[in-house]
Amino acid sequence: MKSKPLALAIVLACFSAPRPAVDTVNVYGNSQQSPSTQGGGSGSGTVLDSDKIQLPDMGDSSGTLLSPDQEKELGESFFRNLHAETTINADPEIQQYIESIGHQLASHSLSPSSPFHFFVVMDPNINAFAGPGGYIGVNSGLILLTEAESELASVLGHEIAHVTQRHLYRSAESANRMSIPSIAATLAAILIGTQSPMMGQAALMGVQAGNVQFQINFTRDHEKEADRVGMSTLFDSNYDPRSMPIFFERMQQATRFYGNGVPEFLRTHPMSESRVADTRGRAETYPFRQYPDSIGYQLTKAKLRVMLEADKKVAGQYFMGQALQGTPEQRAVASYGMGLVYLESLQYDQASRLFAHLTAEYPNQPQYIAALARTASESHDYEKANKLYAAAVSKFPSDQPLKIEYVRSLLKSAQPAQALDVLQSLSDKLKKQPQYFELLSQTYSDLHRPGESHRYLAEYYYVTGQTQEAIMQIRLAREEKDLNYQMLAIINERLNFYMSEQDEKRKAKN
Ligand SMILES: [Zn+2]
Repeated sequence: MKSKPLALAIVLACFSAPRPAVDTVNVYGNSQQSPSTQGGGSGSGTVLDSDKIQLPDMGDSSGTLLSPDQEKELGESFFRNLHAETTINADPEIQQYIESIGHQLASHSLSPSSPFHFFVVMDPNINAFAGPGGYIGVNSGLILLTEAESELASVLGHEIAHVTQRHLYRSAESANRMSIPSIAATLAAILIGTQSPMMGQAALMGVQAGNVQFQINFTRDHEKEADRVGMSTLFDSNYDPRSMPIFFERMQQATRFYGNGVPEFLRTHPMSESRVADTRGRAETYPFRQYPDSIGYQLTKAKLRVMLEADKKVAGQYFMGQALQGTPEQRAVASYGMGLVYLESLQYDQASRLFAHLTAEYPNQPQYIAALARTASESHDYEKANKLYAAAVSKFPSDQPLKIEYVRSLLKSAQPAQALDVLQSLSDKLKKQPQYFELLSQTYSDLHRPGESHRYLAEYYYVTGQTQEAIMQIRLAREEKDLNYQMLAIINERLNFYMSEQDEKRKAKN
């Protein structure tokens, strides 16, 4: 059973948004803008024309229109759409890190039991956002702009506050009804900046759904509240509150640096002096102490730097400089970064030497072992690679990234049966991720079970927002002979499900 058309309007607040008066999404086709929603924000509270819709806060008890199930469905649909719009990080170590810091903060938020999902968008622009269903994305460009882990935590704390304070949406009854898939698609486009929420109706043509029109206005009060609530979460989670004004200031400088090429969200929602000043004043009320960066933060940044830098020489020079300063741990991270540069440049011997040195010195750091094993695998020394992975997996049995890399190496070395075993031992959470379905599909293909291979490839396409391709694959699956009755029933059920989803999408476009 899929989304009935929902009377719904969505509001969201993006990372650095100042605030016009009303958090509304105008659900009237071709209607003029309400004067109260224009411009840079009068801060005059919720003013709505009387003939316009009422926007009850979903968070309160007065007639919640979006059930938790619908909210979950909207979030999932939003996340699928994001995959179709942008590149979501698929590196399991980076994913593990962003989730660990995100959940550390969420568990100290005002709503620790709410569902949260954290992920990295591979995009050099500085951006972070909170979508529906607790889906919080941070661009890789923003992570690289941070100079301390608490700075990243301050951005996440702010986004978490948008979720817990229910800034994301208001729901409304309206003559024009939007379905969950069309809302999800619209939000995905707006949040990652392919559509600007502030650019007026012409620019929003691309995200119009029928004669329903989205209009999103950020609110300065919500931003302030997210800063305030976020900072207290930050402190409670053992991160430095002073990092928030420091990072806000750096974003301000980044705006200047960008000149005319300022990222959309910074151009439309500048980081105001007063916002920085407010945050700084509040931060000063907290006791001062040192907050060292976790090793996970440092390794994630090093890895992202190598991934994002097109010219590996530049990244190499950076790590050379870093290797000469800081604590032994920081120098080790620089050496890890250097090793990744060698690995990317196919200089396996040099990479292997650095990673071997690191694993000897830090035997309890799975990322170093994984890097050594990956180097072996990529230089086609599968025996060495698989031995290293197997030992590491038994030493760190709950480490999911190691398992994923092990599966890749097993597949490359033509051992699909072992790969299947390892895949089946992954956590439930990982079993919902695109790369799990992709690897499973490849594994079944290598095991000469084409029906299941198509079936899981279909699932991969579905969770990455490519429903049409999913339908093609599931149809191919039905043609195969290797399926038992039970699997065939599942496949037919999935086909119907994808078709109804596709119908919703089509309806949303008309
Ligand atoms: Zn915000």
